[in-house]
Amino acid sequence: MKSLWSDDDAEAFVTRYAEQGENRDTALRVYTTRLLGGDPRLVLHGGGNTSVKTVATDLLGDDLPVLRVKGSGWDMGDIEPAGLPAVRLEPLRRLQALTALSDEDMVNFQRGNLLDSTSPNPSVETLLHAFLPHKFIDHTHSTAVLSLTDQPDGDEICREIYGDRMGYVPYIMPGFALARAAAEVHAESPDVDGLILHKHGIFTFGETAQEAYERMIDAVTLAEIRLQKNRRPVFATARLPDDIARLADVAPILRGLLADDLAADGWRRMVLEFRTGPDILNYVNGAEIGRYSQTGVVTPDHNIRTKNYPLLLTAPESDRLESFRESAMAALVAYQEDYRAYFERHNPRQKSPKTMLDPFPRVALVPGLGLFGIGADPKAAAIAADIAENTVQTITDAEAVGRYECVPEDDMFDIEYWSLEQAKLGKGAEKPLARHVVAVTGAGGGIGSAIVAAFAREGATVAALDLDVAAAARAVESCGGLALACDVTDRASVDAAFDSICEHFGGVDIVVSNAGAAWSGKIGEVSDAILRQSFELNFYGHQNVAQAAVGIMKAQGTGGVLLFNASKQAVNPGPDFGPYGLPKSAALSLMRQYAIDYGAEGIRANAVNADRIRSGLLDDAMIAARAEARGVTEAAYMGGNLLNREVRASDVADAFVYLARANRTTAAIVTVDGGNIAAALR
Ligand code: ZN
Repeated sequence: MKSLWSDDDAEAFVTRYAEQGENRDTALRVYTTRLLGGDPRLVLHGGGNTSVKTVATDLLGDDLPVLRVKGSGWDMGDIEPAGLPAVRLEPLRRLQALTALSDEDMVNFQRGNLLDSTSPNPSVETLLHAFLPHKFIDHTHSTAVLSLTDQPDGDEICREIYGDRMGYVPYIMPGFALARAAAEVHAESPDVDGLILHKHGIFTFGETAQEAYERMIDAVTLAEIRLQKNRRPVFATARLPDDIARLADVAPILRGLLADDLAADGWRRMVLEFRTGPDILNYVNGAEIGRYSQTGVVTPDHNIRTKNYPLLLTAPESDRLESFRESAMAALVAYQEDYRAYFERHNPRQKSPKTMLDPFPRVALVPGLGLFGIGADPKAAAIAADIAENTVQTITDAEAVGRYECVPEDDMFDIEYWSLEQAKLGKGAEKPLARHVVAVTGAGGGIGSAIVAAFAREGATVAALDLDVAAAARAVESCGGLALACDVTDRASVDAAFDSICEHFGGVDIVVSNAGAAWSGKIGEVSDAILRQSFELNFYGHQNVAQAAVGIMKAQGTGGVLLFNASKQAVNPGPDFGPYGLPKSAALSLMRQYAIDYGAEGIRANAVNADRIRSGLLDDAMIAARAEARGVTEAAYMGGNLLNREVRASDVADAFVYLARANRTTAAIVTVDGGNIAAALR
């Protein structure tokens, strides 16, 4: 591992933060914290922290010694000074004289000594930083160090590498007790460069930011060198079927099983994030995967994101998906029974009884295919997948030089159910369509992008499909959804887009079949080509999309919602609009047919009948022409309805959101036209 320290970069940080009133110590603390946080081999999603002891000036003009220590909720890779709250140092140091300190008292004391009361909570490892004398302190959960310390003889291996350069701290849960133990180890050998925390991670110190950082890099490099010595080949591969099923077929089955059945309230779903590659396949295909993957987390705080153990599945064969489903179901049931038993084993020794967290896994390993991160949204799923990939690396290296072993189960439980760790996850009510994946066709247009925005606002994970993928990308730009090119008139293109949605998120729950375009012509004279072209888009386009979606929804087994953009023409045909109205009428019948054929499987089908919406179908020029033809102003034309109000794309989008949530409504049409009695449904 190479040091990325650059004098020029360091000085640039000092200059930049001086303009914000931050001192040199803090600027350099930000600089090397980012260097550490930018490397996933060192720091991953909240694991690791840093500090500097410096001086701050309070409102009275008094200079105070403070500890600037990483605050909860900040990512080290892009930390700012605000992510390093200043805590009065002397009171923190005096805590060392206590013999015991509860977590609640510790957190309260730390908060009470913040210079800025609005700061985030200082790290759970703040006291460890405070009790050590060094100016700069860096802490990481380095993959290479964990591969060595996560061994039955991890301490000996580390002593062999580092000798007297490092102090060795046995495993103790973070908090006051660990801080005291670390300070005692340091006091016995005050010349060490850092500390190895058994089966947890590594600390390094220095008088300067560069010294602490480069000691970290040096120590991790020594661990990396050791991991290259006397390696044995891992892992011996298990016998796997020749014909492994496609990811796009496996993901919806798994996602369906992972949805919690809330009975009358529907399903509490998960979003998946798939990862694969040579290292992951080597790991998941190993003959002994049942042992090394089920040992536990490589450093305890990973379990708040991944639980202690991943769900281990069997290799899926492409023509035996049903047997994969059955074995996956059995594996999940066993996983949940084990989780409940684990909770029952450890809850009784807690000072205050805990409430069991949900018993669903956050990582699934699929031999032949790869691994899935599992979470309430794509971000949580990606975090779980990142940690799972890191775990693959750590355990592979540990097994190559020895035998992987982590902290005992009771220590894992203490971290998983530690309130200070759970606090890292943040709480707050979920949005109504959180955990739902929605696909929107014609997403690049005016109505389509309004639909994308409305579903994103309700918390859904959005896939935007459009012929013009750049327009789809613009529609999801602010919500971070997936943009896909899709020609809804081409079944292969539709299938490819839905495969891609399954590969990215695991499946789909709601489809808004919105793509359409208008053709006109007197029906007795219109060319066959135009009529067929309109049917391809305005009827078969909906059918292609609905059929692809239903295939996935059935694989998930958790119902679903098909929503169609109908048109006034379907219920109140206008002159010369046959080529548009006829396929739209057929699409309305299509919606009802889906409602009839799939209602028993919990798949609802509904439509929105919108009219006179400013969009690609009704652009400014058309509005001007029609207003002129009727001898009214454009505003009067657009507001020519019972409410005398122009109907906006966002009104249409809101109706789709309503129908997506109306879980006792199917085969319905909601009209969004400001009131047009001639088009009223009878
Ligand atoms: Zn740590």
